[in-house]
Amino acid sequence: MGQSKPGWTREVPDETAAAAVAARFAAQVTPPCVIWLEGDLGAGKTLFARAFIHALGYAGYVKSPSYGLLETYRVGGVQVLHLDLYRIEDPEELEFLALRDLFDDSSVLLVEWPDRGGALLPAADLVLQFFEQDDTRKIRCEAVTAAGAELAAQTA
Ligand code: ADP
Ligand code: MG
Repeated sequence: MGQSKPGWTREVPDETAAAAVAARFAAQVTPPCVIWLEGDLGAGKTLFARAFIHALGYAGYVKSPSYGLLETYRVGGVQVLHLDLYRIEDPEELEFLALRDLFDDSSVLLVEWPDRGGALLPAADLVLQFFEQDDTRKIRCEAVTAAGAELAAQTA
């Protein structure tokens, strides 16, 4: 048997179920933390980010960062950086966002379309894959770092 990464897969048949998973992450996450959100258009990445930010206690509107690439929130001592690279033309654009300057010990970085970020994108502690299987939606959580493995265990 091959070595599989620590993690889990969960069915999220509706928006409420997906939001509950996001709330679990919000309750357990310890900054600094980088979470990549992978999946096709419409798979549920932004819904997860929105529910995560609201569960942290942010009361305002959480918009999809598709056009501006980055939206930031400060809530309860946590700085959430919500990045969406769907419309990025060149990974070099990440340099103009000064992501490395913004990201500090209080940050949680959520990244949609991380595969478009290239070498300038901070490496993931944990990867969430959003997909459909057996006529339902699912989230697969895979830890990359030790901190990611801890979060995966806490959200399992
Ligand atoms: P993405 O950011 O991956 O492109 P969105 O998060 O914008 O996708 O979701 C696309 C649509 O699917 C939205 O209307 C959202 O509310 C809905 N959606 C997301 N996750 C689920 C789910 N688990 N079950 C049902 N509908 C969902
Ligand atoms: Mg999106």
